[in-house]
Amino acid sequence: MTNINNENIKKVNEYLKDKKNILIITHYNPDGDAVGSSLALYSFFKNKGFNVDVIVPNEYPKFLHWLPYNDKIIIFNSNKKLIKNKLKKANLLFFIDFNVLDRIQGMHSLIKQTNIPKILIDHHPEPENSFDITISSTVVSSTAELLYEFMTKLSGEESIDQSIAECLYTGIMTDTGSFSYNSSLPDTYYVVSKLLEKGIDKDKIYWNVYDNYSTDRMRLLGYCLNKKMKVIPEYATAYISISADELKSFNYRPGDSEGFVNFPLSIKGIVFSAIFIEREDHIKISFRSKGSFNANKFAENHFNGGGHKNAAGGYSEQTMDKARGKFVGLLAEYKDKLLNKRI
Ligand code: 5GP
Ligand code: MN
Repeated sequence: MTNINNENIKKVNEYLKDKKNILIITHYNPDGDAVGSSLALYSFFKNKGFNVDVIVPNEYPKFLHWLPYNDKIIIFNSNKKLIKNKLKKANLLFFIDFNVLDRIQGMHSLIKQTNIPKILIDHHPEPENSFDITISSTVVSSTAELLYEFMTKLSGEESIDQSIAECLYTGIMTDTGSFSYNSSLPDTYYVVSKLLEKGIDKDKIYWNVYDNYSTDRMRLLGYCLNKKMKVIPEYATAYISISADELKSFNYRPGDSEGFVNFPLSIKGIVFSAIFIEREDHIKISFRSKGSFNANKFAENHFNGGGHKNAAGGYSEQTMDKARGKFVGLLAEYKDKLLNKRI
């Protein structure tokens, strides 16, 4: 593991010497890597005797609520006053699993008003230049994998206990779709083997995350695939769109549509997939691709977003019809890339 240089580890150690109150902050709509990594780091610093809190901007999926120390998470949207007070006392901030501060949404304006040292630990491309220390690698599968290196370089292998290992494994597993993408390098499996040595039950973690859905969620998935998926073979693309009313009719809970966007990629010949989900004041869009097609560039150029090459997201403030229309209209421009022809 050679993603973190000694210089950065030294700098972090300097900060930790006299800074006792740590806040760990992750991105809006946090996923398994965001929550797993944040809780792993929480536990790591707690074990070392620091005062530490984990903040997530908004509600996160129920299938992550089994994670160790889940009850320590403070949700910004429903605890703004408490978090303002925590920020007053904080003297070190860790930002986990995102590359631009915009991704913490409402908390961004609060952070901007402070000059507390900021440390980023992340695996998205092109991190913004707002941090005192940037620990970033796009080679790793996940922030959780990078954190394993961070923790062991900072405090040795014995600083990883079973709870930390469960949190880190969850991050790696969810960010690789259970080792089906972003997971072709030996280091990922080296880290996994070290986590297994800590006594984690990887099958149980899988069941907790993927076999823990409500009946409503399964029926919503069936409905989306049967009635709402459009396939455009000439552009190797498929997409799903779902309105707020439709979500309501399936008793939608946060996280219920997680993973839906991957299903169209299982169709032979499809390399680009999107899902459009109507939220209160915008359309949330997720993109997934297979192979060389840059989903993040597409999200960045057309839908105010970003992410990884094969997994990205963004949003539209237009109507569902317009957002979908814009998406479909753009495909011709990308035909050669989608069909992987040289241009
Ligand atoms: P998801 O589609 O699961 O929400 O996100 C997939 C990937 O895209 C994640 O790595 C996430 O961090 C990134 N992503 C999702 N939404 C946005 C967005 O609005 N802006 C940016 N910059 N990245 C996003
Ligand atoms: Mn991640």
